[in-house]
Order: sequence, then C-alpha cells, then structure tokens
Amino acid sequence: MIKFLDLKAINYDVRDELLEACARVIDSGWYIAGSELISFEKAFAEYCGTKYCIGVANGLDALSLTLRAWKEMGRLKSGDEVIVPANTYIASILAITENDLVPVLVEPDAITYNINIDNIEQAITPRTKVILPVHLYGLLADMPAVISVAKRYKLLVLEDSAQAHGASHNGKKAGAWGDASGFSFYPGKNLGALGDGGAITTNDDELAEVLRALRNYGSHEKYQNLYRGVNSRLDELQAAILLVKLKYLEKQVCLRREVAQIYIQGIKNAEITLPLDRDANVEALEGHVWHLFVIRTRHREALQKHLEKHGIQTLIHYPIPVHKQKAYSAWSGMALPVTEAIHNEVLSLPLGPTMTREEALKVVSACNNFSSIGAS
Ligand SMILES: *Cc1c(COP(=O)(O)O)cnc(C)c1O
Repeated sequence: MIKFLDLKAINYDVRDELLEACARVIDSGWYIAGSELISFEKAFAEYCGTKYCIGVANGLDALSLTLRAWKEMGRLKSGDEVIVPANTYIASILAITENDLVPVLVEPDAITYNINIDNIEQAITPRTKVILPVHLYGLLADMPAVISVAKRYKLLVLEDSAQAHGASHNGKKAGAWGDASGFSFYPGKNLGALGDGGAITTNDDELAEVLRALRNYGSHEKYQNLYRGVNSRLDELQAAILLVKLKYLEKQVCLRREVAQIYIQGIKNAEITLPLDRDANVEALEGHVWHLFVIRTRHREALQKHLEKHGIQTLIHYPIPVHKQKAYSAWSGMALPVTEAIHNEVLSLPLGPTMTREEALKVVSACNNFSSIGAS
C-alpha cells in the first residue's frame, strides 16, 4: 500500500531529536510562552525573511487574528470586503466571516488554480480593503501582480501560506510578500507539529504588538487587558517540536520536488492533466513546494478506483467548493464555473518526503495504464 502521506515515517526519521526536545520542555517546568516559543518564532521569521513571527494555536487563528488585529488598529471595520479565491480550503473564508467582514469570491486561474489577477481588479469596489491570496497546493500565487494591484488601490494583503512553507518566487518566500501571512503547522502540512499549531509572519511592528496581545486574552502585561482577546497560543512542546522539524524542511522540500519531477516526466495519459501542464512555466515550478500533487481528470471516480486497486491511496482537495457548503447556503446560486470544474475533476496523488523512487514509479505506471474505457 502506498500511503497518501506517511506521517509516521516522516516523524520517525527525527524521533530521537523530537524525544530530546520533549524531554527538554518537560524538565524545564515551563509549558506556555517560554524560551522554546521565542526561539521558534525567531527561527521561522528568519526562514521566511520577515522581521516578526507570532505563534498561535492553528492556521485558522493565524488568519482570523490578523484580520481582527487590523480591525483593532482601525484599518478595517465590519462590512469591509476581502477578495479571496473561490477555490480554497474553507478556513480562508471562515477567517473572514468570523470577523464580520465580507468575502468576495473570485474565480482562480484555470492552470495554476491560484487567484486570477484580472478577476481581482474586476471585483474591487469602494468597500474592498484586503486581498487574501492562497498559495494553493504549495505554489506561490502571482504575488508581484497581487502586490501591484494592492498598492494601486491601497489594499492590505494577507497571504494564506498554510500550504506553502518555503514556497518562493525569485528567492522571496511565502510569508514575506504581504502585509502579513498566516501559516498552519497542522501535522499534515509541509512543516507539521505533533498537534495543532500556527503562526503569523509580518514586518509591521504595530501589527506584531497587537497580535501578541490578542492571542493572550488581549493582554501585553499580566492582568492588563487592552483588547477582548482570545486564548490562541503555540505551546512550548509544539514550538520545540517545530524547531527540530524546521531544520529538515528544506531537505524535505527537495525530496518532495524529486517525487513531483518523477510524476511530471513519467505520467503520460491523455485523460490526465498534470499541474501547470499547458503552461510549462519553469519559473513557477522552481519555487513550488509540492504540498500536494494535484492532477485533473474527467474520470476521477474511475481513476481513483483504479489506483486503489493498485494499492495507491489518493485524496480529493477539495470535493465541495465553499459556495456549495451548507455553512454558506446563501451563496449556493453563485456561478463559479472554473471553481466548480476544478472541484469536480481534481485528484491528489501520494507525495511526501519519505516516498521512494520505486513507489513514485509505481504510481506513474498505474496512471499510465489507466483508461476510462472499460473501467468499472
Ligand atoms: C490547513 C489550512 C488552513 C487552516 O489551518 P489549521 O491549522 O488547520 O487551522 C488554512 N488555509 C489553508 C489553505 C489550509 O490548507
């Protein structure tokens, strides 16, 4: 069986170092907001190329608290519009609605699956205040273009970098482009904790200050509360674990790229569209960190069954678009054909840093001998 992602194997490779880090925390007697958090925040800010990193409890909170902070700072108010791609994980949208802001869903680019710049401009109104691009599947959105639109219309940019630790364009990493960026350290992400975790990166002194208070009951100083904050903290144990895993992130990205290359070079089937296929955009591929390897096919169910028969586990990211979710039933009539086609046709192949060349080649040959004709 080729697992979609072998988390056990990934963490087993650094098991001794993880145990050592956990022992250090246990023996310190200090479990929240201590030296491990400070060290991780410093290391991750340095990795991303930003002045600050603020650890929080998860990726959703990273996005949500940033919008909340901008409200506290007077840069946003209830009812302001946030432009966001319609094909994303629901957390990107929840962060917006949780803050009483209005998501304006725009169609993605049909090749990169990331936000389409022309559609951003068309969606801008006098109430637009933020662009929230998502670096989906590990591919950086077209950030030079996003930043240039944002500058022209004086909009804030919040990157959703939950799937894109280390993704880059011309050497500038995810997290360093926008006014702020939200990261998730959910175990299955490219940089994953052994539980929940998240962080915000930014160069903005004031935003960093406000976020540090918001995550801690709205308090900078014990028993002094400036804001009606929340409890959303990255604990010492997860911070210590992430410090260990951050050291191996670049190496693991390289291993992911090797698997992706085997797929790109090996999969040749007219019924399967590879990522960035028609684009042959070498530059985009260089900075891709391959959180997911997502193919498209009109025969998804048949292909998924075929691969399963060959012992290959696949998943769908994502089966139901946000505007078709019950949680957002008011949007069910929206026409978003590009987004809907993507959701109907995408399938994610196994990909991870512990996958062997043999396993990747097995996936290639199973894809190549698939035919929808006669498939059950
Ligand atoms: C995982 C993810 C999130 C949310 O992260 P959590 O840590 O699970 O809250 C947000 N946006 C995207 C695109 C994600 O993939």
